[in-house]
Amino acid sequence: MEQKQCPFCAEEIKPEAIKCKHCGSNLRINEVTDPNTRAVTQFVPVSKGTLWLPVPSLVLSILAVLALFDDSGWDMDLLYGLFLFTGTGLVMGIISVLTQRKGRGMAIAGIVLSSLGMLAGFGLLAGM
Ligand SMILES: [Zn+2]
Repeated sequence: MEQKQCPFCAEEIKPEAIKCKHCGSNLRINEVTDPNTRAVTQFVPVSKGTLWLPVPSLVLSILAVLALFDDSGWDMDLLYGLFLFTGTGLVMGIISVLTQRKGRGMAIAGIVLSSLGMLAGFGLLAGM
């Protein structure tokens, strides 16, 4: 049977082993340092980030909320636009909060405003 080498104690072990029988090391750690996994976890470093998520999130949600104060009457097209804006703002805000620290305050404001706009949209929808 083909054997591989334990990266910790250099003893021969079975390829499918998840724990070294010689030194007891957890060999699953190799999966964590796998280049593909690393690419995902390093996608957005904590210290860096982009403002292209929180800023549009906030802008879209503010536009949606402002539109709610326009009482020129609501039809399905306007409601569709409202849900589009608040939905996009909500998703971008959530992605921003989950993946980076940059612009976190803006992203959270975007999430809150988007949620409010969406709730108001549902209220309008129910009242139609
Ligand atoms: Zn070992």
